[in-house]
Amino acid sequence: MAEPLVLPGFVDAHCHAFQRALRGRRTGGDFWAWREAMIAEAERQTPETVREEYAETYRELRAAGYTAVGEFHYLGLAEAHAAVEAAGEAGVEIVLLLSAYARGGVGRFRQDSPAEYFRQLEELREAGVRVGCAPHSVRACPPDWLREIGAYAAREGLPLHVHADEQPREIEECLEEHGVRPIELLAQTGCLGPRTTVVHATHADDGELDLLADAGARVCLCPTTEANLGDGFAPFERLRERGIGICIGSDSNVRIDPLEELRELETTARRRSLTRELCDSGTLLCFGADEGAASLGLESWPDTAVDLEHRSLRGVDPGDLLDALVFGCAADVFL
Ligand SMILES: [Zn+2]
Repeated sequence: MAEPLVLPGFVDAHCHAFQRALRGRRTGGDFWAWREAMIAEAERQTPETVREEYAETYRELRAAGYTAVGEFHYLGLAEAHAAVEAAGEAGVEIVLLLSAYARGGVGRFRQDSPAEYFRQLEELREAGVRVGCAPHSVRACPPDWLREIGAYAAREGLPLHVHADEQPREIEECLEEHGVRPIELLAQTGCLGPRTTVVHATHADDGELDLLADAGARVCLCPTTEANLGDGFAPFERLRERGIGICIGSDSNVRIDPLEELRELETTARRRSLTRELCDSGTLLCFGADEGAASLGLESWPDTAVDLEHRSLRGVDPGDLLDALVFGCAADVFL
């Protein structure tokens, strides 16, 4: 029996566990039609469904090699506690990225004020929950909310996660309302810094990416969800050129496989550039683990182990093992 290969566990830096229920569902023509179905699914949730269904999804994450998760949560405070319990049951470290939502969406997503949002965060922290600030997006949070939340996160040394530039419409609306693009607005309101993670950045222009690089912020890419939702292509090469930290997220959980997320990043870039080996497997695995942990403010998190006797690895030269893992295996290779 070959000893398993122990690796740092994968870190899922962006997860909405309830969206696992939407996989395979036909919801209509584009992201915005899918969003309607997503909102209906969100409305259905109770602390009991979160406790039960999140535990199932987190067990799938754990089986796929993820040992820590950043749950980007906008379903309410009781449901936040239920998500934390579910992660405990499944044996996954959780950082509860509590979403701030001022406008749009549905009632259960929203708080009345930043003060109410901070009260919710404090309640979770007092209960011993590891948290991060998560202004949902520039759609959901106006500049005065962003300013207060950015200042709070900096003062408290907390991670700050925010969706930006996932769809062109969000950029058009932001330009119309504020005269700047979403990541420019985040910079203006003090939301960009070394503990910031911008989720997606799919349609970020070069100026926005320069702002991220200057701030030392990270980007979380969620390739299987971005593909499924028709978001576009992640700006992988342009992030790499600027040395911007990259982490991964299972996001809608249409697929739960960190190797697939990492492989998508590299192979999409290969298709575009008509070249190979843009990013070595060690670096990709670091995006999948260390960068995700840093994004969530985790200093330690559990390891995962590779079954070296798995049929996907049969006959592989030991020196090629990491490449064979990233490019030739699925998540069932993890013990
Ligand atoms: Zn998301």
